[in-house]
Amino acid sequence: MSVLIFLDQSEGQIKKSSLEAASYATKVAELLGTTADAIVFGKATDDLTHIGNYGIKKVHTVADEKLDHLDAQVFTKIIAEAATALGATVIIFSNNFSGKAIAPRLSVRLKAGLVSGAVALPDTTKGFVVKKNVFSGKAFANVSVTTPVKIIALNPNSYSIKTSEGTAEVAPFTATIDTPKIQVTATNKVVGEIPLSEADIVVSGGRGLKGPENWALITDLAKALGAATACSRPVADSDWRPHHEHVGQTGLAIAPNLYIAIGISGAIQHLAGVNRSKVIVVINKDPEAPFFKAADYGIVGDAFEVVPKITEAVKKLKGIA
Ligand SMILES: Cc1cc2nc3c(=O)[nH]c(=O)nc-3n(C[C@H](O)[C@H](O)[C@H](O)COP(=O)(O)OP(=O)(O)OC[C@H]3O[C@@H](n4cnc5c(N)ncnc54)[C@H](O)[C@@H]3O)c2cc1C
Repeated sequence: MSVLIFLDQSEGQIKKSSLEAASYATKVAELLGTTADAIVFGKATDDLTHIGNYGIKKVHTVADEKLDHLDAQVFTKIIAEAATALGATVIIFSNNFSGKAIAPRLSVRLKAGLVSGAVALPDTTKGFVVKKNVFSGKAFANVSVTTPVKIIALNPNSYSIKTSEGTAEVAPFTATIDTPKIQVTATNKVVGEIPLSEADIVVSGGRGLKGPENWALITDLAKALGAATACSRPVADSDWRPHHEHVGQTGLAIAPNLYIAIGISGAIQHLAGVNRSKVIVVINKDPEAPFFKAADYGIVGDAFEVVPKITEAVKKLKGIA
């Protein structure tokens, strides 16, 4: 029995959500009395020995430029090959974009039970029971996995990164690499911004901001806090902000440590994408706005008066001119 984790990288940097999954995998391995290995694809320019700091014993690399872009079918086949060769019985992903694309395919290929959206370590005292989010985070389910091979896709920001001194052995894994059916002809990367899915703090604006000309209210506060910016769907639909900032049921689902919602009503479809945030702060002039029910802290007030004062206070605290 052993644990294998898929480490997701972007431009050679292992993603934060994968490091959370690595810490989680190490703990799962400990519970099962075994060790955890990792597999990484494409150009990983990072020195991967540091993955040992997250408890991973060995990193298997498949460094082929065909794997620089995600092709779920190609990736699935290699992970299945590696899992079989390494005798992995628990395979762990972050439940991020790649994890959502690969884990279900791998589940079919290996006839392995899958828990996607896991939020806690498995309970191994009663078999192998994993807690997961259901109904857009409104409830939990405890899923018992009984197949010999088990797959877990861990929700980002539901398990803290744990580090210790350690060095992972790094070795190439020889795999059969199919030619991807998807050809990437161009990539439009957003540069100079904190990626929304990786951000610790997110400042988000809704229709209460009245128009794109007022967005400095959001971006100034985000800049002072070192936060990413997001928006509600009507804001993106009206072209006030780009679509990659839209969060919610039909947009990106995020789970930052702090989510500040400004001039957003808190419709169920919006909450579906942000209710896993650790702390939610709501600023809305309507005391009856539904978002206040989901908030940890709330300010009833006009965003145009309240937000500049918060931005000033943050700047003063941080000594920013
Ligand atoms: C199938 C479906 C999927 C959807 N998916 C999504 C999704 O993924 N994400 C999403 O966001 N929405 C989604 N929606 C839309 C959703 O139902 C809401 O319509 C939307 O979230 C409302 O956006 P809003 O809160 O910015 O605007 P509004 O509902 O117009 O709310 C604006 C808020 O700003 C407040 N306000 C106004 N002026 C000020 C001020 N000066 N200071 C402070 N507060 C002020 C108001 O009190 C109000 O609460 C979806 C809808 C459907 C039907």
